[in-house]
Amino acid sequence: MASGDATIRDGGEEAAFRAEARAWLAEHVGPFRAGDGPSIVFADAADPEHLERGRSWQRELHAGGWAGLGWPLEHGGRDLAPALQAVWAEELRAAGAPPPVNLLGEAVVGPALLAHGTDAQRERFLPPILTAEELWCQLFSEPGAGSDLAAVSTTATRDGDGWVVDGHKTWSSGAHHADFAILLARTDWDVPKHEGCTCFVVEMRRPGVTVEPVRQMTGGAAFDDVVLAGARVPDDFRVGAEGGGWAVAVTALAAERLQLGLGLARAGAGVDRLLADLRSRDVAGDPVVRQLAAQLVIEARSAGYLGRRLLTTSPGPDAALAKLASGRVSRRYAELAEAMRGAGAMVHDEYTLQDLWAPATRIAGGTDEILKTVIAERLLGLPPEPRVDRDVPFRDVPRGS
Ligand SMILES: Cc1cc2nc3c(=O)[nH]c(=O)nc-3n(C[C@H](O)[C@H](O)[C@H](O)COP(=O)(O)OP(=O)(O)OC[C@H]3O[C@@H](n4cnc5c(N)ncnc54)[C@H](O)[C@@H]3O)c2cc1C
Repeated sequence: MASGDATIRDGGEEAAFRAEARAWLAEHVGPFRAGDGPSIVFADAADPEHLERGRSWQRELHAGGWAGLGWPLEHGGRDLAPALQAVWAEELRAAGAPPPVNLLGEAVVGPALLAHGTDAQRERFLPPILTAEELWCQLFSEPGAGSDLAAVSTTATRDGDGWVVDGHKTWSSGAHHADFAILLARTDWDVPKHEGCTCFVVEMRRPGVTVEPVRQMTGGAAFDDVVLAGARVPDDFRVGAEGGGWAVAVTALAAERLQLGLGLARAGAGVDRLLADLRSRDVAGDPVVRQLAAQLVIEARSAGYLGRRLLTTSPGPDAALAKLASGRVSRRYAELAEAMRGAGAMVHDEYTLQDLWAPATRIAGGTDEILKTVIAERLLGLPPEPRVDRDVPFRDVPRGS
């Protein structure tokens, strides 16, 4: 049976870097090793031990010079090209190491602050992201604004030298243990939706911020509802211009897509482990199982190549293809894991969490339907979807209650 490995042959610089990464991981990953299957980054609200282990691992990474690989040197990073970051992601995965606990801070918030923050904000917020002293979450989605993110109705109102925020955010990963959040809020209802948004840094442990864990079908609670009721934010914590929040959100979402490319580049290692497990069971000759395994290998390999391509081009519509492919690989992985376990799949085992997480991968960071629209419009040049609210003041756009 073919391997799921999607590694592309290294050049000289990559090979040297891979050897350095592999040697360091072999020495340090031991006590932090994650289980098989994709690692779940965010500690469950009820699992402080998992969180502490994650913080210790990130401290270890930072001390070894393995945090903020893509960040500029002056902010504690290593300024490495995406291709080397992909090598690191592959080695991290192959070593069974968990991702850094502050992944959202490092991969999404950091790039947004680097591009749009003030010097004072960068000095204050960036160093404790890399050491995991301060954890971050992303307060973008709302009950009425997910795919249509620019329709946020959480409102920030000027009040003296600061702002007062009121609204309801949802699906906020890791908000229960976050110290800070990056928030997208509406500051002007009288202009079209994209022009009236502003980004802020919000302190999560302040009066007016309430975090309620959302229980998932995995049994855990990795994300939360966040209610903001009169939460005060100083103007110093505004990121970018007033009304310029959409540009900040786009930077954050593009950084999330780069992370996706890194995730895809490391998909092969998980598939290899699953195939090794398959061979050790007595189902490897079953034609249905073999068919599913072949399909998984094909799709994981294509996704790996798409991921590599994403790392070598500026983020654009290709990211939609890669994200769609990534969700499919998760589903195929879960299908094969189920088929090879037969009736055993009804019992809780090392694959159960992966089974239950697979649907989420087709929603987070853009649903399959939204991605298909991007592909249709921007890659295939098909006629665009009607967007009747684009030039209308947001106040006049009909909304659900
Ligand atoms: C694991 C996970 C982690 C997440 N973490 C965060 C986080 O940390 N911070 C954060 O802010 N958000 C987070 N999210 C939320 C995520 O960004 C949203 O769930 C996603 O953008 C979809 O929005 P929605 O859930 O409101 O669904 P909706 O946008 O309401 O979509 C519902 C359904 O309608 C379809 N649909 C919507 N619009 C269209 C259209 N124009 N054409 C065709 N079909 C359409 C969708 O594809 C979907 O099937 C997370 C989600 C998941 C699953």
